[in-house]
Amino acid sequence: MNKSYLETHPDENGYFGKFGGSFIPPMLERPFADIKNAYEELKNSPAFIEELKYVRKHYQGRPTPISFAKNLTQYCDGAKIYLKREDLNHTGAHKLNHCMAEVILAKYLGKTKVIAETGAGQHGVALATAAAYFGLECEIHMGEVDIVKEHPNVVRMKILGAKVIPATHGLKTLKEAVDSAFESYISQANEAIYCIGSVVGPHPFPMMVRDFQSVIGFESKEQFFEHEINLPDNVVACVGGGSNAMGIFSAFIEDNSVNLYGVEPLGRGEKIGDNAASLTFGTEGVMHGFNSIMLKDENGEPAPVYSIGSGIDYPSVGPEQAYLKEIGRTKIGLCTDEEAVDAFYKLSQLEGIIPALESAHAVAFAMKLAKTLSKDKTILINLSGRGDKDIDFVVDKYPIPNAKF
Ligand SMILES: *Cc1c(COP(=O)(O)O)cnc(C)c1O
Repeated sequence: MNKSYLETHPDENGYFGKFGGSFIPPMLERPFADIKNAYEELKNSPAFIEELKYVRKHYQGRPTPISFAKNLTQYCDGAKIYLKREDLNHTGAHKLNHCMAEVILAKYLGKTKVIAETGAGQHGVALATAAAYFGLECEIHMGEVDIVKEHPNVVRMKILGAKVIPATHGLKTLKEAVDSAFESYISQANEAIYCIGSVVGPHPFPMMVRDFQSVIGFESKEQFFEHEINLPDNVVACVGGGSNAMGIFSAFIEDNSVNLYGVEPLGRGEKIGDNAASLTFGTEGVMHGFNSIMLKDENGEPAPVYSIGSGIDYPSVGPEQAYLKEIGRTKIGLCTDEEAVDAFYKLSQLEGIIPALESAHAVAFAMKLAKTLSKDKTILINLSGRGDKDIDFVVDKYPIPNAKF
C-alpha cells in the first residue's frame, strides 16, 4: 500500500524537500534525539493516544464545532463561509492541542520541568496551563517589550504558577525570547524539555507539533460533511509559525480539490520592517535551528518584523509551510492591519464572535475570496483563537463602528 503524505513527510532527518533539518549545538544533539525517540514510541502507544483523547475531550473541550457564518456569508454575497472554532479551546486558542501532548511527552521522559518562549503570551499561557494540569514546573521566556504590551497574559502565566523570564537583548520580542529559552534549556536539558510554540525549530518539533495539531483537520473533515455532504472547496488559515494552518491543512493535503490558503500579515505595507510576510517576501536561510524561508535585513540577519497580531510577527516560518508553498500545494494570501481590524469588527457584529487579531487575518482574506466565488462554493476558516486579549488594544486605536452609547 502507498504510504500517506503525513507518513512520508518529513523524511528521517526532518526534511520537507530542502526545508527543515536540525542545526543545533553539539550539546543539544542528545536531548533532541531523546525527544525524537520518545515521540516515535509514544505516537504508536495506545496508552498515550488514550490519555491525549481523554484530556482533549474532558478538559480541553474537544471536539470544537464548525459554525456556519450565515450573516457574514450574506454580507459577502458569495461563497458560503464556515468557521472551525478553535477559539473555543480552553485558554482560547489552538495552542493547547500541542501543549497538552508536549507535557505528556515530558512526563514520559521523566522530566520535571518545561521551558518555552512566548510572543503574545498565548503559548506561555497554554503551556503554563498544561504544566499545572500535569504537575510540572514551567519556565517561560518573553521579550521585555512583549511583557509590557501583553500584561494580562504575563499575569495569567504567573497565576498559573509559571516563572516568566524577560529577554532583554536586541528588539526584546519573540525572536529574542526563543534565543533566551534555548540558552536556558542547554543548561537544564537533564531535568527539562523545550516545548516549542509552533511548527518551527529543529527536527522533530515541526513534525511533532503538526501531528498534535492535525486533530483540527481530521475533526473538520468529518464535521464538514454534517453541513455540506462534501469536502470544503477552500480552507483558509493565518500563518505565523504555521501551526494552526498545518493543523487544519494536514487532513486535506491529498485532497486535490481542496484549495489551501495560508494568510500572512502584511502589517503596514511591503517595506522590510513593516510586515511579517516571510513566505511572500523572504528567502532561504537558517534560524533557530532549522532551514526555511525567512525575512532578512541587508546584512542577511533576521529582519525586524511587524504585525498588529503579536502571535504572527515572526521573521521565519515552519519548514513544511515553505515546502508546501514551493511545490504549489498551498497558496499564500496577504492581509493588512486595517483589513484585519475590519474583519475583527465584522465577525463580532455579524456573528457574535470576537476573533483573535491573528485569526482576523484569515477571516479578512476569506471575505475577499468569498466575494470572488459563486454561492455554491464553500470556504472553511480555521478560527485559531478568541480576541479577548486584543479588545483594549483595538478599541483604543480603532473606534468601534456603529457604536451605540
Ligand atoms: C499563536 C497564535 C497564532 C500563530 O501561530 P501559528 O503557529 O501560525 O498558528 C495564530 N492565532 C492565534 C490565536 C495564536 O494564539
